[in-house]
Amino acid sequence: MSTQVAVAAAVAGIGAYAIYNLRNRTPPTGRPLFASFGFHSLKVHSTELINHNTKKVRFELPDKTQPSGLSLTSALLTVSFPNGRWLPVLRPYTPTNDLAEPGFVELMVKLYPGGKQSSHIHSLKVGDSLTFAPIKEFGWTPNKHPHVALIAGGAGITPMYQLAHGILSNPDDQTRVTLVWGVNTDSDLFLADEFKAFEKKFPGRFKSVYVIATPDAGSPHTKGFVTKQVLENAGLSPASEKNKDIKVLVCGPPPMEKALKGTKSLFGSAKPGILGQLGYTPDQIHGF
Ligand SMILES: Cc1cc2nc3c(=O)[nH]c(=O)nc-3n(C[C@H](O)[C@H](O)[C@H](O)COP(=O)(O)OP(=O)(O)OC[C@H]3O[C@@H](n4cnc5c(N)ncnc54)[C@H](O)[C@@H]3O)c2cc1C
Repeated sequence: MSTQVAVAAAVAGIGAYAIYNLRNRTPPTGRPLFASFGFHSLKVHSTELINHNTKKVRFELPDKTQPSGLSLTSALLTVSFPNGRWLPVLRPYTPTNDLAEPGFVELMVKLYPGGKQSSHIHSLKVGDSLTFAPIKEFGWTPNKHPHVALIAGGAGITPMYQLAHGILSNPDDQTRVTLVWGVNTDSDLFLADEFKAFEKKFPGRFKSVYVIATPDAGSPHTKGFVTKQVLENAGLSPASEKNKDIKVLVCGPPPMEKALKGTKSLFGSAKPGILGQLGYTPDQIHGF
């Protein structure tokens, strides 16, 4: 929801004409580019297909000595005019490189058949440009919660990866992290090596559980969808003493978010989702 508000505000604030004129703006150097709001055009440095439908695209920042300036957690609103459109296409994507890395931002973009922005980003070649503006997402405070549950569906994994990486690479942050990731097939698990490395380096602090709708024969992962049972088996029951003050973050396709968070009617009556049935209160849950 926060992203939708940010996107709407950005659109209302600048207008299509302003965006059009910002297409070729030259970014300033000497300070982190995205530490404050503004639209900037960045050049593609490299592209790499990392599974059957997801591309890693690295963009060069104008100052190679500066990090992006994005805080944990943040996304980038992308603006494009695919095929000469007059109206812009705006979609948020979550950088997956270390936020402290100087000189680059990196996206992992899943291609949706017929998807306007994902198709455009997949078509970009080295040297092409894309326009970005920063969006602050969930503001992370180290050690505020002893345990954080990250529940992702499909490409909704990228904000979870950014947060898990940010927590675990901060020696002053001792938060425990449990990831539950639902995907369609084993081949959709494009960040699994990175999560495996977290598990090895931080035993007892980082745990991942993958749930596959249609697993390969012999897949070691749980078959099906993210259910109450799956979350209980992953150690995410809020009644457990170990989960006192736990925070749950959710990012996935709308049907999954609805199943987890429940629905609210116009008149305020609510149908609890899986998280509510488990005993989570609304203030414990954040959706990207
Ligand atoms: C905060 C935030 C961060 C995000 N970060 C990433 C990221 O790092 N990497 C990434 O790949 N995506 C990310 N997304 C999703 C991204 O913003 C776009 O929604 C997605 O790329 C589809 O845009 P499109 O223009 O290609 O598709 P559209 O033209 O909008 O839609 C084309 C088709 O794809 C379907 N579709 C669109 N979005 C989804 C979806 N999320 N799940 C299932 N079906 C969908 C539509 O139903 C439609 O049929 C993020 C979304 C949010 C809110």
